[in-house]
Amino acid sequence: MGNKAVEKQNNILNQSTRNSDPAEGKALIIGGGEYAATLAQAFLKENIRPVILAPPEHPARAGARTAFDFAETIFGEALFCHGGAGRFTISIDSAGKKKSLCASVVILAKETRRLPLFESHGIKENPRAISLSAAVSDSGRLADAENIVFMVGLKQESDPVIFEEIADICLDLLPPSDDLPPPKKKIYIFAGNLKVAENHLESLYRQTRRQGAVYFKFTKNPPKISQGADGRVLFQGVDESTRLPFVISPDMTVVDEMIVPSPDFKALSRRMGLEMDENGFIQGDNVHRFSVRTNRKGIFAAGPARKIQGADGDARDAALALSHSRRVIQRMASDSKNRENDGPTAEINPGSCVFCLTCLRSCPHGAVELAPNPTIIKEACEGCGACRSLCPGNAISMTGLDEGAADSKIKETRLNPPDHLPVIASFCCARSGAAALESALAAGQPLPRGLALITLPCAAAISVESIYSAFKNGADGVLILSCHDGNCHSGKGHALARERADYAADFFKKIKMDPKRIKTASLASNMAGAGLKILTDFEQFLMTAGRFSNQKKQ
Ligand code: SF4
Ligand code: SF4
Repeated sequence: MGNKAVEKQNNILNQSTRNSDPAEGKALIIGGGEYAATLAQAFLKENIRPVILAPPEHPARAGARTAFDFAETIFGEALFCHGGAGRFTISIDSAGKKKSLCASVVILAKETRRLPLFESHGIKENPRAISLSAAVSDSGRLADAENIVFMVGLKQESDPVIFEEIADICLDLLPPSDDLPPPKKKIYIFAGNLKVAENHLESLYRQTRRQGAVYFKFTKNPPKISQGADGRVLFQGVDESTRLPFVISPDMTVVDEMIVPSPDFKALSRRMGLEMDENGFIQGDNVHRFSVRTNRKGIFAAGPARKIQGADGDARDAALALSHSRRVIQRMASDSKNRENDGPTAEINPGSCVFCLTCLRSCPHGAVELAPNPTIIKEACEGCGACRSLCPGNAISMTGLDEGAADSKIKETRLNPPDHLPVIASFCCARSGAAALESALAAGQPLPRGLALITLPCAAAISVESIYSAFKNGADGVLILSCHDGNCHSGKGHALARERADYAADFFKKIKMDPKRIKTASLASNMAGAGLKILTDFEQFLMTAGRFSNQKKQ
């Protein structure tokens, strides 16, 4: 990360830390780069004690001065992480010795890696062909060159971060040209699929062109690349816009890079029970965890641990990680009575537990541990109910949740028969289905009069028994509305709900009842119209199908 980027981060962090109450606690920051250092400084300002867990091979271990000399630093790797928000115990392997560390929050802040694409372009690195990182850290190397070629996106889609860095260097090297003669220095940008739609990149693109940078675009036929004995690179090809052939042998070639997540995330996610996205980052873009929360309460993934983004995005993540951490620590400091109102949590009745460990394996939030019997960690439980609906021993209850509320609501709807309209028991995730239907109602859209809307903390909480029970209590149909796959706060809410609905529908088939009376659909909280349509279509179907209690076995 360059000085400019660090400066930007500090500015945003300073703004976020101003005027905040001091809070006590400890934050474990996992990472060994400048990003971890910037975070640690911000936490210190908040009176939150940062401890940095840097990789064992970090130069500071050998006594070198680093960006985080000010913070307590442990060199090693996390082995596992027990507990929940406010009370984590992290086991660490430090030079072969096992250590244990307690922290209120954990922040993953490992830097991305840059892989220069010399080899794939058939170029050897030398003083006339350097990587983009080398050019960013020492742009003086380009000062004397009269002709420079920057390569971007010729081998894979261009990354906006890479293009932004190239554009920044160009603007530094080429003075504004309005009232000056054309610059002596020539800068060529050889671009493949250049993506400039994001944020301010379009204006950076225009600005570089205004200041004299010349773009060559290659969408079909990339230029031929060879390298002379003196290390100078030779480009030959046809410019796609002008269709004119060209040969350019610049004084300097700047080779682009691929940005990849830290290779440590694979092991870290396995050891700490954290979800990864398909690109190898922790967390990804799940809207219900947006943006730095992970599947484990109190563990955050910020900046380069979460995605490739520019300095502004990294700084926003840092400020968010700080404010979430502050909240966790303040919450822990508040009295336990207040904390009891934090929402439903699961509880195991040891007398009914058959020790199958299904809850331990299935909890998406790492909230079940063996101590030595299966036990729910209150601070880690998100109250999703997945464990309860999977437990074969019926040993799990949810505190803070009215277990009989669904049945009573359905009975009540049945007892006040809405003419001859069907009764629909709609089990809705609070974050998606329920929110969508509530906004339809708020917008004045009439919902079916026979609707019994049952809000669940997560669709994962639906059990096969609750579906049967809905019919027993008077429902004519059961509709489960959950989040889309990949955007579920608990990861698999829709998949688990669908699995149970399919199971119940199969049973209906076996006993010759119409399985279409059980329906699942996924939607987002802002899809009020779609939610209403699903509901009214289902109502229509049930009107044709008739009352469940009257249904003759097929
Ligand atoms: S799923 Fe139920 S029975 Fe199995 S270990 Fe957990 S609490 Fe016990
Ligand atoms: S309710 Fe959800 S978060 Fe809590 S222990 Fe059960 S599965 Fe885990």
